[in-house]
Amino acid sequence: MDCIFCKIANGEIESNIIYEDEKIIAFNDLDPKAPTHFLVIPKNHISSANEINEDNEAIIGHIFKVISKLTKEFGFDKKGFRIVNNCGEDGGQTVNHIHFHVLAGRQLQWPPG
Ligand code: AMP
Ligand code: ZN
Repeated sequence: MDCIFCKIANGEIESNIIYEDEKIIAFNDLDPKAPTHFLVIPKNHISSANEINEDNEAIIGHIFKVISKLTKEFGFDKKGFRIVNNCGEDGGQTVNHIHFHVLAGRQLQWPPG
């Protein structure tokens, strides 16, 4: 499958990896929208939030646990941060491998555009 995030997960495409374990990887976004902006993805291909089910729900919980650990390590637990998942066309998803954006380091606006 020609998936850019699968290629990042298997090392075919270089990225700035900030966390890795056997199931997931976190790397800096190429086009950051905040002073800190990284993406967290499962290594296994899941297309979008539409594909979350009882077989893969544990990985989603694992991703959120790791985000909580990383944001604490980076010192964002006090000031806060935002986790974003864009799903599908109206959600603005451009890469069809599920990913969670983590944005931090400035006051973020609400609602998003
Ligand atoms: P989305 O619009 O939610 O699908 O987000 C896709 C994100 O992937 C965007 O923020 C892009 O800047 C980012 N992105 C695309 N290609 C790469 C890459 N090779 N390395 C890091 N981030 C990427
Ligand atoms: Zn993929």
